[in-house]
Amino acid sequence: MARVVVVGAGLAGLACALEATTAGHHVVIMERSERIGGRGTTQNFDGFPFGFGPHLFLKKGPFHDLVRKLSRVRLTSSPIQLHRVEVLGHGVVRPVDDVKASILAKKILREASSNERIVRGCRFLASWNTSEISERYAGLQKNKLLVSNEGWSGMVGRMAAALDEVGVFIECGLHVNKIETGKVHLADGREIETDVIVLACGPAAARKLIRSVDEEKAKEIFSPLQRTTASFIEVGLDSKSLSGRQAIVDVDNQFAILDYRAIQPRLGLEGCHLSAVAVGGLETDPGETRFSSEGERLAALTNFMNQRASGWKEHIVQHSEQAKITILDSNEYRIPQRAFANVGILLAGSWIESEHLLADASVDTGRNAGRSISSAIR
Ligand SMILES: Cc1cc2nc3c(=O)[nH]c(=O)nc-3n(C[C@H](O)[C@H](O)[C@H](O)COP(=O)(O)OP(=O)(O)OC[C@H]3O[C@@H](n4cnc5c(N)ncnc54)[C@H](O)[C@@H]3O)c2cc1C
Repeated sequence: MARVVVVGAGLAGLACALEATTAGHHVVIMERSERIGGRGTTQNFDGFPFGFGPHLFLKKGPFHDLVRKLSRVRLTSSPIQLHRVEVLGHGVVRPVDDVKASILAKKILREASSNERIVRGCRFLASWNTSEISERYAGLQKNKLLVSNEGWSGMVGRMAAALDEVGVFIECGLHVNKIETGKVHLADGREIETDVIVLACGPAAARKLIRSVDEEKAKEIFSPLQRTTASFIEVGLDSKSLSGRQAIVDVDNQFAILDYRAIQPRLGLEGCHLSAVAVGGLETDPGETRFSSEGERLAALTNFMNQRASGWKEHIVQHSEQAKITILDSNEYRIPQRAFANVGILLAGSWIESEHLLADASVDTGRNAGRSISSAIR
């Protein structure tokens, strides 16, 4: 049995801890914020499950698979449906009142030619990333991209409850500010001895921590990583919006607005819950620069909301927004999980090599790290 410290209680850290405990190791999770779930969680305000921008999960993907196995209580969810998704410059993707257009759209989507606007729109909605044809793109066409009835906080809560049952401590408010082989240093001055450290704290924090172990290698391995940032706006409104659409996508500007209530009517209250996102476009993001600052990007997203959900500002019950958050931790290049295994450190997150994307990659690599603990013991 090894002593394992997992740094970060996001989806990757929680998934890793579940797996490592099952393998018989003694695990502690250290999380610098006061809440668990990282970017993949929600918080309820007046019944609106607000999160960090629009989040859809793939049916039977690693995240869904793990969560549904943890509890006997069925996880209820609803799919986003292409007959209620509009791509600007094209219209509704698969209109129910135009069978011919709908069949043609199905064919175009299957062929996935990247010049077609609906293909680009669906790729964007599926993975916030137009450069990859992903399992999520196929999932969107088969009604397999889902909104959770209980919000992502419910799914994270199931992971936390399972960890609690097996006696894993999740220590919130603990900032790990230095690591070395076999030791973790906390910002409050304490030092914890451990056999294996799993860095599930996002690439920026992981790079900072690992520099003190092997600066040269950290530079070589982390430098090619390219993150993509986004701005998001989440609003709970006491009115209907988006004219019954579940989502509107502007593929030219990489904007999308989702109405969770239209996707999942059982979410409760009247009105709607809009979650809007603007992806990339800053100088530091991959691709062309469209905005001089994150403030300008957020203002452009607000303008998009004004055009597509007119009057939304007069109906706000709850509101949250952020000008800059990392939405994609990596582009095509990802880091090998075991790049630092020889010094007792494993890595987990959506920036680690995996056949999956986004939250699914975090859970997949988290679980793999949990299973590989024995091979990283020094
Ligand atoms: C706007 C937006 C939309 C998205 N949409 C989707 C979607 O539709 N579908 C999907 O699957 N995914 C989506 N994602 C991505 C998904 O949220 C992330 O891939 C996933 O949540 C990342 O989980 P993680 O555990 O790897 O990292 P994080 O969630 O970043 O967790 C890292 C944790 O480590 C902690 N930490 C950092 N440094 C330290 C330290 N020094 N000491 C202790 N703790 C530390 C942080 O506080 C955090 O809790 C979206 C993300 C955004 C921002």
